[in-house]
Order: sequence, then C-alpha cells, then structure tokens
Amino acid sequence: MLRIPPQVMGLMERLECRGFQAWAVGGCVRDSLLGLPPHDWDLCTDALSEEMVRIFSDFSLVRIGERHGTIAVVLEGRPVEVTTFRTEGGYEDHRRPDWVHFEKDIGADLSRRDFTVNAMAYSPRRGLADPFGGQADLRAGVLRAVGEPVRRFEEDGLRILRGVRFAARYGLTPEEKTLAGMTALAPTLASQARERVFTELCGFLPAARASDFQVFAPVILAAVPALGPSWGFQQHNPHHAFDVYTHTAQVVERVPPDLPLRWAALLHDVAKPACFTLDEAGIGHFGGHARRGAEMAREILKNLRAPRALEEHVAMLIAYHGVTRDLGRLQSDQPLRRLLRRLGEKALRDLLALDRADDGGKGTQSAPDSFDRFEAALDRILSEQPCLTLKDLAVSGRDLLDLGFPQGPELGRVLRMLLDEVGDGRLPNDRQALLDRARAWSIS
Ligand code: ATP
Ligand code: MG
Repeated sequence: MLRIPPQVMGLMERLECRGFQAWAVGGCVRDSLLGLPPHDWDLCTDALSEEMVRIFSDFSLVRIGERHGTIAVVLEGRPVEVTTFRTEGGYEDHRRPDWVHFEKDIGADLSRRDFTVNAMAYSPRRGLADPFGGQADLRAGVLRAVGEPVRRFEEDGLRILRGVRFAARYGLTPEEKTLAGMTALAPTLASQARERVFTELCGFLPAARASDFQVFAPVILAAVPALGPSWGFQQHNPHHAFDVYTHTAQVVERVPPDLPLRWAALLHDVAKPACFTLDEAGIGHFGGHARRGAEMAREILKNLRAPRALEEHVAMLIAYHGVTRDLGRLQSDQPLRRLLRRLGEKALRDLLALDRADDGGKGTQSAPDSFDRFEAALDRILSEQPCLTLKDLAVSGRDLLDLGFPQGPELGRVLRMLLDEVGDGRLPNDRQALLDRARAWSIS
C-alpha cells in the first residue's frame, strides 16, 4: 500500500470513474517503497491528452508537454504530471526520441524507463506493476538498467549520469552488465547538453560517497574531463597518502552536503597536476594551485552553464582553500579579522568546512588543532560584534563630502581605510574619532 496524497488520489479516481486506468509511476513509487517522502507525484494513464483536458477541465493545466502525452494538472500551485502510456524510439541524437507511440498497457510504458527501481507503477485498484523486478532490486540495493544496458545508454547518454545519481542517493551497487554499459558509453556524455550534465551532477554531488568516485570513475571523468589529469596522479608528499583523484573523492564525501561546498570539494585540487613540481629531496609541491584551480573551476562551471552565484562562491572557496589552517597557526588574529571583513562570516565557515574535509581526506595523520583555533578565534571576534562592513562604520561617504573630500573613488578608499583602522583595533568606531582621522589624512 502506498500512501498517495488525497488530492492526487482525487485525480486518479476521476480518471478511473471515466473508465481509464490511473497509476502513480516512477520516482514516487520508488521513494514510497523506501519509506521516503516523494518530492512529486507523476501519474500515467491510458487516457489520451485530449481526454485528460476534458476530464480535468475545471483545473488549471499546463499543456507544453501535450505532444508527448503529458498534461500537468496544477494542484495548489504544484503541477502533477499525467502522461499517456507510451513507448518511444529513434534517439538519433542520443538524447531525444524521434518518435513516441501512445500505448494501452502499463507494461509497455514501464519498458521505456531507465532503471528497474524507476520502472514501477502503483494503482490502488490494481496494486504494484513491477515487470522488471524493481522492488527486489531496491531491497537488494541493485542498480539495473531496464532491458539491454548498452542499447538503453546509446538511446540516451544522460541515463548513465542519472544512474550514478540514483546509486549514490539510494546506496545502490550497479549490476555487472549495467556498470559495463555505463563505462563503455561514458564518452557519449561529451555530446550531452551541458545544462543537463550540470543538473545531474548537482543531483549526484550532495549524495556522493568516496566509493562512487571509484566505481563510476570513467563516468565522472567523462562528465568533468578537467579531472582527468588528477586520476592516479601521485603527490610525492608526506602529507598525502592518496593520488589527487582519490583524495578529491574523500574530500567530497567529507564536506557537508551543501551544493557549493560539494562543487568546491570536487574542484579544489583540479589544478594540482598542472602546478606540480618536485624538489631535490623528491618531495612534491603544488605552488599556486589554489588560485589556478579557482580559474579552472570558473571555466568548468561556465562551460556547464552553472548559475553565476554558484561559480563565484565556488571559485572563492577554491582560491582561499587552506587559509583557515594557515591563519589558525598564527598568534595574531589580525589577518583573520581582515579576511572576515573581506569575505564575510558565511565564506569563512564554508572555508573551515572545506579545509577540515581536505585535511581529513589526506589519508595521513590529520592536524585539526589549527582549525579549532581558527574557529574559536572567529567565534570570539564575531561575539564582539565587530565593525565588518562600510555600513557598520559610524561615518558615511556623506560625512566625508561634508568635510571637503571630493566626490569619486577616493571617497571609497578612505572609508575602507577607516574600516581597517576600526577593524584592526587602532580606532574606536566613534564618529568624532573617525572624522578626526579622516581630516588628518586630508591635510597630510
Ligand atoms: P527524482 O526523485 O530525481 O525526481 P525520478 O525517478 O522521479 O527521480 P524524474 O527525472 O522525475 O526522476 O523522472 C520520472 C521518471 O521518468 C523516472 O523515474 C523514470 O521512470 C523516467 N525517466 C526519466 N528520465 C528518463 C530517461 N532519461 N530515460 C528513461 N526513463 C526516464
Ligand atoms: Mg521525479
């Protein structure tokens, strides 16, 4: 028995009362069987879209998918997709079917779906339809393609990356032929639309485990080719037991499952192979890899059509990674205060999480003390309610104009200098003191 929300049940009953079959299908069935709350409900039916339009005429409908048999019925602002049973084929471009046929039978519809765990349907009147053994695979933790894996991945290469995402999210192990098919056809990911690859990677990363990076290495390297040189790249460094790719996988697993942090972990050492040097003692160094890595990450994320805000945040995290360890070792907290003013609290908390994961993922003795010190100092500074931005300063640009400073970029520079004076503790955040100092600067 699946617990279907009453309103969705209402749509199903309406179809049934008009003599059609109505099934919940795909992700919602899979998630319900796992005891997880489905994030949306998809229905399928033998009714054609023109029949659905008539049956649901009193609802607001979205009809953009109608040609492929899909009508979205809007329930309290959320669309529930209702799709006519269908098969499809052609896939000349390895992405989109060239034809779809509407069918009368749920079995035909389930056979077009990608993995057995996604190829189940449930009807309160008819029970579970599971012709490919999806429930048994779910219980056994197996990811298995529906039908001949190579053919199914040839039809649509994105299924390979969907498979990685489902394996990670539900802790599934790929069945042998399914994995062989995913591996063999991984190179076809290069011709997939970048946006689709990006979306799948965003689905995969928060769930990713280090072991997925080993099992699905050819897929991940095909999806993010810039990681290729990291694969097996030995670091020749006593702090590192792992090659760059294996270490990267460790760091991804260890950062909190937050999207920008996971992307930053994935790409934080992407420039290491390019920055590698070996000293006379035979020790490997990677000077400049953080800055170079941030540039590469920007390129990679731009290419994947990632939102600009994500690109910015990830590039910042990579550019500064390692800084919390370095600052945590210092006696003075002035550099930390400066960084806090420059980047803000959220960025420093994220950097701390990334650096801790980076340290823990080296496969050698980790040194968490400097991170603990950094965190304690950060908490202490923040509890003092410091003056962090120009807005917190007790004077404004207006005040400086009144003092006779000319309008222009100089004004901003003076304000930032005052902010540094206050932030470093050389001046109180007091209007008169700040005006006196600014006046002194303007005279000297
Ligand atoms: P999620 O929880 O991520 O939404 P989902 O399984 O619901 O997972 P959707 O992308 O919403 O995934 O697709 C709904 C269903 O449609 C899937 O469960 C699967 O049966 C089928 N499906 C989706 N994309 C494909 C594809 N590229 N090839 C074959 N079947 C697909
Ligand atoms: Mg879904």
